[in-house]
Amino acid sequence: MIDAERLKDEFLDLVCISSLSKREGAIARRLEVILMGATVETDDAGERVAGETGNLLARFSGSAPGAPPFLLSGHMDTVGPAAAIRPIVDGDLVRTDGTSVLGGDDKAGIVAIFEAIRVLRGRGIPHGDIEVVLTICEESGLAGAKHFDTGRLRARRGLVLDVDGVSELITRAPGANRLAFTVHGLAAHAGICPEQGLSANQMAAEAISAMRLGRLDAETTANLGVIEGGLATNIIPDRVVIRGEARSLSPAKLEAQTEAMRRCFLDVATRRSVRVGGREHRARVEVDVHHQYDRLDVPDHAGIVALVQGAAAAMGRACPTRSTGGGSDANVFAARGIEVANLACGMREIHTVNEWVDIRDLVLTAELVVETVRLNAVA
Ligand SMILES: [Zn+2]
Repeated sequence: MIDAERLKDEFLDLVCISSLSKREGAIARRLEVILMGATVETDDAGERVAGETGNLLARFSGSAPGAPPFLLSGHMDTVGPAAAIRPIVDGDLVRTDGTSVLGGDDKAGIVAIFEAIRVLRGRGIPHGDIEVVLTICEESGLAGAKHFDTGRLRARRGLVLDVDGVSELITRAPGANRLAFTVHGLAAHAGICPEQGLSANQMAAEAISAMRLGRLDAETTANLGVIEGGLATNIIPDRVVIRGEARSLSPAKLEAQTEAMRRCFLDVATRRSVRVGGREHRARVEVDVHHQYDRLDVPDHAGIVALVQGAAAAMGRACPTRSTGGGSDANVFAARGIEVANLACGMREIHTVNEWVDIRDLVLTAELVVETVRLNAVA
C-alpha cells in the first residue's frame, strides 16, 4: 500500500533542506509545492517571532460525505547543528555523517503524513476532510503552535506526529515552567576589601547545592541549564543570572517544585547583608517564572486512543499509550480543546548528531495514519 521508495526519496529530499527555528522559509516553500491539490494558507506567526515564514495550514477535501474532519500535524523546524545535512543511506537506515542532526525530528512525521494522504487519495479510500498543520519554531518553545489560531480548524480530533519510537501513542506529556533567578549582591575589590562585598556567585552556589534537580520522581524533572555572572576574578560579583526549568505531568508537582527552587534562592539571599560606610546593603533575588505550556493528559478511554489502537489492531499490531518527558505542539492543541495525541513516527536518538531513522518505521507509521483516517470516517 505504502510506496517505500517514494517515501524514502521524499524524506531524503526534505532532510537536506536546512530548517532551523525561524529559518523555515526554504522548507515551507518546498512543502507548499508538494502539497499539490490542497488549499494552503500561511499565517502571520513568522512575523510574530521574526522568522522567515508562518505556520502552514493545508486543507484536503474529504471523499466521505458527513465524515468528521481530522487534524494531522508536524513541525518544519529542527534543532542544530543543521547548517548543512548530508544523510548517509545504508539500505533502509538513514543516518547523519556525524556533523549535524538528521532532522528526522520532525521530517519523519511530515513524510508519514504526506505519504498517508497520497495513499488515501490515490487508492480512493473514503475519508473526511484532512487538515494538515505544519508549524514553525516547535523547538523554540512551541512558539509556532502558540501563535497558530486553532479557531481556523474544523477538526476536533487528530494526531501530532512528533516523537521517537514507532507504533506508540504518547498521551501524557509534562507541563513546563521556564525559570530565571537573578541574585543581586554587592561589588567590592576582591583583594583590598572583600568584606565590603556580597558574592552573588557564592549565594547562587549555596542555593543550587540545597536544591533537588534532575529526575525528582517518575512525573517530575528540574534543571538549571545556564549560569551567567561576574565580571573579573578580582571583583566580588554583584550579579548572577541562573536559568532553568521544571516539568511535571502533575500540575501540583510542577507548582511545588517551582516554589521549592524559588525558596532555595530566597533562603540564602534574605540571610545576607553587609554594612559599608554606615549603610546596610541586603542581598536580594528576582524570580521570573514563565509558564511555557500545559501538560498533555489524554485518558486511555478517549476516542483518539480507541481510533489509533483500532487502526493498529486492523494491521495486526499493538499501539500502546505511554508518557514522555518532553512537550510538543500536542500540548498546545490539547490545551485549546482539540482531542490530540502524539504518534511515534520513527525518529531515533533525536537532538544528537547520532540521529537516525529506519525507513521501515516510517512506512509503518504512514500505514497507521492511513488506517486511522479511514477508521475516523466510518467510526
Ligand atoms: Zn520534534
